[in-house]
Amino acid sequence: MSHPLRLSKLIDWQSVLSEIDSVVEPCRGQGRVADYIPALAAIDPMKFGLAVALGDGNVHTLGDADEAFSIQSISKVFTLSMGLRKVGELLWKSVGREPSGSPFNSIVQLELERGIPRNPLINAGAIVVTDHLVEQQGADAMIAELIDRMRTLADDPSINVDQAVAHSESEAGSRNRALAYFMKSFGNLRNPVEETLKAYFSHCAIAMNCRQLARAALFLAYDGTDPVSGIQMVSSEACRRINAVMMSCGHYDNSGDFAYRIGLPGKSGVGGGILAVAPGHGTIAVWSPGLNAAGTSEVGSLALETLIQQTGWSVFV
Ligand code: GLU
Repeated sequence: MSHPLRLSKLIDWQSVLSEIDSVVEPCRGQGRVADYIPALAAIDPMKFGLAVALGDGNVHTLGDADEAFSIQSISKVFTLSMGLRKVGELLWKSVGREPSGSPFNSIVQLELERGIPRNPLINAGAIVVTDHLVEQQGADAMIAELIDRMRTLADDPSINVDQAVAHSESEAGSRNRALAYFMKSFGNLRNPVEETLKAYFSHCAIAMNCRQLARAALFLAYDGTDPVSGIQMVSSEACRRINAVMMSCGHYDNSGDFAYRIGLPGKSGVGGGILAVAPGHGTIAVWSPGLNAAGTSEVGSLALETLIQQTGWSVFV
């Protein structure tokens, strides 16, 4: 069944974007740039970009929307989509779908819950999803397929993995290795840890700009099918589920606050990006490198909050 296009008021994008600009401008640079991945520490905290992709293929942008950044955990939404398409319901035997209430790289729950991560959007859960995909096709082919999809959806062949960021994360990857070995000890990792982590670090290191990201994720706002190309990424049922998981788990121990303030399924990454999905309306990608304590872009959240006030796009209306 196709998604009933939500009746939305005609939006004057120029005035919405100029309102966001005036709210964000005095706050630029707020938050703390992630430095536990050394390659991310050097990013200019004053950067700010935003893109809104609409069902008719139009993209409205603001600021540094054409400058690539490290999408980091936003990639977990795309690997979950791939996982649900290729592995299906079986995936939920290895990973849960409850909010964790814990930091993105927490290990404490894993022991109590016998190596089954709370959800696919925390590091441990995303490593398990990646592991399933690596089992099917190997790390290199999995990443090649993912990049190919992103390029097709964004209609932009320039999208790629930033190898310097992937290398930097791998060098500093003790915590993710600990999570992976821990899950392996419980029998919840199918491949050698290094093979799975090679793929995980690579997809976290994909570099995209706001325009490409908003465009590539548009299928999530339209029942799993990209409204411009007609490519079905996931079934409409899987699409509803991905959005539900994003709403409840997309920002780690900051997910409740994000739902309260913004009211859209979303996913943040420590590169300072946030992807938000407004079902039936469009997608928004925002980038500002300074993070709050939970690892969500501080100014990015403020921009989204302003956009919601201006457009009425919250799913709670
Ligand atoms: N690649 C990062 C990590 O594994 C992702 C964290 C994030 O973006 O929230 O630590």
